[in-house]
Amino acid sequence: MTNLTTILKKYKESGTFTRDEIISLLGIEDEKELMQLFTQADQVRKEYLGDEVHLRGIIEFSNWCIRNCLYCGINRCNQELARYRMSSDEILATAAEAISMGFKTVVLQSGEDFYYTGEIVADIVAGIKAMGAAVTLSLGERPRADYAQWKMAGADRYLLKFETSDPDLYARLHPGSSLAHRLRCLEDLRELGYQVGSGNMVGLPGQDLASLAGDILLMRSLSLDMAGIGPFIPHPATPLLQAEPGTVKLTLKVLAATRLLLPRTHLPSTTALGSVDSDGRRSGLLAGANVLMVNLTPLRYRNLYEIYPAKAEVKDDPGRLKIEAESMVKQLGRRISTGYGHGNLYKPKPQINA
Ligand code: SAH
Repeated sequence: MTNLTTILKKYKESGTFTRDEIISLLGIEDEKELMQLFTQADQVRKEYLGDEVHLRGIIEFSNWCIRNCLYCGINRCNQELARYRMSSDEILATAAEAISMGFKTVVLQSGEDFYYTGEIVADIVAGIKAMGAAVTLSLGERPRADYAQWKMAGADRYLLKFETSDPDLYARLHPGSSLAHRLRCLEDLRELGYQVGSGNMVGLPGQDLASLAGDILLMRSLSLDMAGIGPFIPHPATPLLQAEPGTVKLTLKVLAATRLLLPRTHLPSTTALGSVDSDGRRSGLLAGANVLMVNLTPLRYRNLYEIYPAKAEVKDDPGRLKIEAESMVKQLGRRISTGYGHGNLYKPKPQINA
């Protein structure tokens, strides 16, 4: 018995949960209680952020990566994968198309690929900014000087998921890397004046409910502008091929609990959620999410950016995906935002120094 009513009543008075209360929420199995949790999260989303859903167009411009993250299909040890890099011109042309389709934010994502130097990325950012879109970067861990250069070129946001708040699990999943360094990067980004996005994966092998509660508390202590929460999906060309995938149900519980604790944070209903269940993204929008990512990667590269298998959207062209997202939003009685959808949680004074 979770005593959900008591926990939610206390939440309405205090706006917060204890760690144990979060663990109780994540342990809910009763269908009626689940609905109660999701409905509460949906109400908080509506109260703080309204009915607007922000569409972000994502361009996955390179699948080269120097890292060996145990869960990720594009990790450097995957020899079976054909590697690609989009040129600056190709990236700019794809972004221009996105903007002409009405996207207000272009997200640039890649493996950790230092072929794209600070300067190359800065030029791409400046080019997209000149076209009038907001720019989110998601290029992994880079020196602070690179982050500073890109901010100066006009980048608005940076997405760098901490993946798990458990330092031991983090170290096991990311050989040669540490949670402390990931968090250092997030601090750098914040200090440089970025709107900061982070988040986790749900259902990683070795992760339990207490660990997930820790993730949610970390998201809050980072005062995130955006938090991406998606199920772990095992990839056959990785050491975790035989691990159990994260479930939609647990992912939605983490999403809903995060919405309650971070009422103003942008929460996408992730592509990973849509990949494990065709109804996943819709369910996410009903459990606290207010953002959808639309894949704009040119079709000839799309299936090569295979961070996890059976990624939703591998075959559909951007125009189609946009129409699908729009009709899902409309069916829910909500509307697509026409603004930039900047983060509104945290407004530090920008201080741009390397
Ligand atoms: N190199 C960038 C982008 C990584 S890919 C970076 O380090 O930030 C973007 C996200 O995909 C990751 O942050 C991770 O949360 C997610 N991801 C990677 N492999 C996954 C898998 N097998 N299942 C689910 N999500 C995965």
